[in-house]
Amino acid sequence: MEPVMTPQEMQHRLWLYGFYCDGDPLAASRAETSLTSVDLNAAIIRFREYHDPYIQQIAGSPANKGMSEIDAAMRLLSFPRCALPDVGVRVGLAANWPKECRGSLTFSIPDSSLNRQLSREETKQAFVKSAINWNRVIDVAIGFHTTPESADIVAHWRPMGTNPLATSELARNSCNVRLNQYYNSSPGVFTDVDFLSGTATHELGHALGLGHLQDRAAIMYPYMRRDVLVPSEVDIEAMVRIGYEREEVEPPEPPSPDPWITRVSVTFSDGTTKHILGIQGPDPDRPGTPWGESGELF
Ligand SMILES: [Zn+2]
Repeated sequence: MEPVMTPQEMQHRLWLYGFYCDGDPLAASRAETSLTSVDLNAAIIRFREYHDPYIQQIAGSPANKGMSEIDAAMRLLSFPRCALPDVGVRVGLAANWPKECRGSLTFSIPDSSLNRQLSREETKQAFVKSAINWNRVIDVAIGFHTTPESADIVAHWRPMGTNPLATSELARNSCNVRLNQYYNSSPGVFTDVDFLSGTATHELGHALGLGHLQDRAAIMYPYMRRDVLVPSEVDIEAMVRIGYEREEVEPPEPPSPDPWITRVSVTFSDGTTKHILGIQGPDPDRPGTPWGESGELF
């Protein structure tokens, strides 16, 4: 069987995903060139432990008959995933959006047209879905803003080769920050709305304060799965552990004739239900209603 990547690439990815440290952020910041073969062996062991069930599944798949676990681990390293580390990064804990700003977070996409595999409209639909995915299950209301300069979370596109899907700046426990996200615009990476929507849901999870979760059923598992495209129970539980409140929200109304505008009902913990605008008309010839005019719910 052909090797899936060069040894240098394998080392680089293990370093990138945090497996050269032992949960110690300082170790994670060590220069890649200072790493030894002892460090590499330890990193491989940590990677195999972290992803053990998935590696077993890959090795046990009939299509991979005879594949060793170490080869399965290397294969997994080549799968599309989020570029943020699995270990050694300080996320969660207090690093989420404070309660006072959760009700009106805004999200903007300045150069969506740079993803040439999807139309602008499809791209926006995917991001709307990702916001609604969190609006429905925890006490946040993420809306869309035409102007990136005034949005809380901004999604950019840039070519990143074939492996990383996206990366995100992490929540910093302040209402006055702008978090940037970067999605891979390389050909063939995002070719359908659902996969982009699932990936964007994962990246929004980082913006809200979650790190990666080891459970493969989680949207916050670092390797994206096409059968896990919305937050699962384990994701919601993780959000509750970092201070969000669970919300039970009715399914959104069917999309309006303008697919860029989606309304969703959000029920807050005090029992009140409000309707929020999922997205506004982003083009000058589609002015739409701004996100609550003043950034408020309506
Ligand atoms: Zn991630």
